[in-house]
Amino acid sequence: MQLYKEQTLKIHNTLSNSKEIFQPINDGHVGMYVCGPTVYSNVHLGNCRTFMSFDMIFRYLKHLGYKVRFVRNITDAGHLENDADEGEDKIAKKARLEQIEPMEVVQRYTVDFHNTLQKFNFLHPSIEPTATGHIIEQIEIIKDILEKGYAYEINGSVYFDVVKFNETNDYGKLSGRKLEDMIANTRALTAQSDKKNPQDFALWKKAEQQHIMRWPSPWGDGFPGWHLECTAMSTKYLGESFDIHGGGMDLKFPHHECEIAQAEASNGKSPVKYWMHANMLTLNGKKMAKSTGNNILPNEMFSGENKILSKPFAPSIVRFFMMQAHYASILDLSNDALLASEKGFHKLMDSFATLDNLETGTISGFEVSEWKQKCYNAMNDDFNTPILIAQLFDAVKHINLIKEGTISITDKDKTQLQQYMNTFVFDILGLENNNSSDADSDKLSGTVDLLIQLRNEARSNKDFATSDKIRDQLAVLGIQLKDGKEGTTFSLS
Ligand SMILES: [Zn+2]
Repeated sequence: MQLYKEQTLKIHNTLSNSKEIFQPINDGHVGMYVCGPTVYSNVHLGNCRTFMSFDMIFRYLKHLGYKVRFVRNITDAGHLENDADEGEDKIAKKARLEQIEPMEVVQRYTVDFHNTLQKFNFLHPSIEPTATGHIIEQIEIIKDILEKGYAYEINGSVYFDVVKFNETNDYGKLSGRKLEDMIANTRALTAQSDKKNPQDFALWKKAEQQHIMRWPSPWGDGFPGWHLECTAMSTKYLGESFDIHGGGMDLKFPHHECEIAQAEASNGKSPVKYWMHANMLTLNGKKMAKSTGNNILPNEMFSGENKILSKPFAPSIVRFFMMQAHYASILDLSNDALLASEKGFHKLMDSFATLDNLETGTISGFEVSEWKQKCYNAMNDDFNTPILIAQLFDAVKHINLIKEGTISITDKDKTQLQQYMNTFVFDILGLENNNSSDADSDKLSGTVDLLIQLRNEARSNKDFATSDKIRDQLAVLGIQLKDGKEGTTFSLS
């Protein structure tokens, strides 16, 4: 039997602002869409946190036995500098500044994004579509919305008519806004704007002569509005209605609100059953921003090359640090917090070796089955990883008590504990045991010590050909032997 039939998962749905029992639209299958990065700069550590939260969610849904189709897009066109459909395209701007092709910008930062996620041990999404790969689908949706009367064409651009939509639907239901308030609180449109109302948003923008990223359309050369790509790609790969849509809290409005409007206008259906939003990562208590210098890149974490850090931190430590907070809470990053996480991480990793070497007895002083269910309960409660981690440390405490002989554990319970520690730590939290480098150096010194011993034997047998060969071949590999009074030692060059 699949695990999801035994475990009751609850998800905090941002749309209803309440925790709901998770019931996918199609039994046993989950469709999940997460808004991906706009690839015009190195991926931000705050964005990594959002994507990591959904990586953990993807892992847990899979663990429960669901067949998950996880779509995370790459925005490689259409994302303008500000939300009011104004300013330059972020990618085109970078291309202009660096005097390279927009697709070179896209390639460079898509590679950076993938490399960073790989260091953090992310699973690959099932599909990673791009906006430029779905221009035709976007044009089709615009035609459909125009036909249904929820959009208007003007001077080669097409805008979504928010006021018209709000007559029959509820624009603002996700972010808890009312259109009347929005209208009352916005300044009038400038003379050069084509929009009927400031709340209207672009589905298609006419490309001015200097705009390099452009495609032909029924309305002339142009490019799609940013919100439209997610509607096009989620509908194409997950259907008109799907289970989970995720993203950062900052995307709730206007991006996700506009996605709902586009989908409802074109097919009359609410597109998403559970909306999920991951919260922000702050740095030393303040919002991260490049402009103020209160900012840190993932690679600076790994190399330690940032003034706020006292040392480098391995990706698994950073991942463990992020998993120590609930995805919907604000998390503050600081050197002290990372040092504390590092200590906790090593304590957790050390417990695996201790657990493997435990001697077993006839009774168990630790209720492993009960503990296991507490771990599931934590994850079932809206993916509460901090509570899960508290349970993992409860297991660590008991592993140490067993080692000291204060309590005992049966063979069956030990096997079960090993299995579930592995499941929760590595499969679900996605951590990696970075102590492997220590283990590798142990193996290396053991091997070289053995060769030194063989060389000594050859020398005492006056077999200098063999002893020289060992020394010279090791030197070729960068291992220098040094003969001294205390015997032979080695160093790596
Ligand atoms: Zn999106």
